[in-house]
Amino acid sequence: MEKREELYRGKAKSVFATDDPEHLVMLFRDDTSAFDGKKREQLERKGSVNNKFNAFVMEKLAVAGIPTHFVRLLDDRETLVKRLTMLPLECVVRNLAAGSLCRRYGIDEGRVLSPPTFEFFLKSDALGDPMVNEYHIHSLGWAEAWQVARMKELTFRINDILTPLFLAGGMVLVDYKLEFGLMNGALMLGDEVTPDGCRVWDRDTLEKLDKDRFRQDLGRVVESYELIGQRLGLRFD
Ligand code: ADP
Ligand code: UDP
Repeated sequence: MEKREELYRGKAKSVFATDDPEHLVMLFRDDTSAFDGKKREQLERKGSVNNKFNAFVMEKLAVAGIPTHFVRLLDDRETLVKRLTMLPLECVVRNLAAGSLCRRYGIDEGRVLSPPTFEFFLKSDALGDPMVNEYHIHSLGWAEAWQVARMKELTFRINDILTPLFLAGGMVLVDYKLEFGLMNGALMLGDEVTPDGCRVWDRDTLEKLDKDRFRQDLGRVVESYELIGQRLGLRFD
């Protein structure tokens, strides 16, 4: 497999073509951003930590029967993935209230959401990723009805796999964002599952271990990402 030109440079990752039209190389950079890209920093080793973290979680999901784009780790920062046509939507699942849900509805952080709740956001940096409902998605053609149903089904199945995995490591998986795409008519999980797109708290102390450490200037961001991985059973060496 030969790496070719950079097709897309996002806020945290770059995507490269390969000599095979069905595969891409995803490069995890050290760039870290929050608040729609307004806060930006380079966090040394974050790319490498997230690359390994993502591979670990994607493999767990695949074993549990979730279709994903993950093929294999290539090196410290790069992963080979299936080339998807991404749907322009972010799927957020929430087990506990935090972040924009608290701000929007005026509720306390940490309130248990029973059952877990689900939100679609339109992937648009220019618009600040607004929340959208299923009628918007259908009327504006962002996804078909079966794709909406499948995204929700897979998101909740993923939540049923990941929630106990984190709990076993003494952590609460508060909320996270997933992105899906299409390949040959099949819908599968794309992008990444890393602490950059999740909220994870220590089960006993409720200490924040995820990207909120970056958003709120709590320090030791990458060390904390590594700690989450280690508590899930991942070895970084
Ligand atoms: P952003 O675009 O939000 O700045 P990233 O820096 O993470 O995000 O860039 C990665 C980009 O690659 C995202 O736009 C994501 O939708 C896209 N992507 C993820 N997985 C795939 C895939 N398998 N095929 C094609 N594009 C993908
Ligand atoms: N999230 C993300 N990318 C986005 C928006 C949200 O990864 O563009 C993740 C975020 O890290 C959190 C969850 O989705 O784990 C819910 O985010 P929320 O809507 O609360 O937004 P925030 O307050 O984090 O901006």
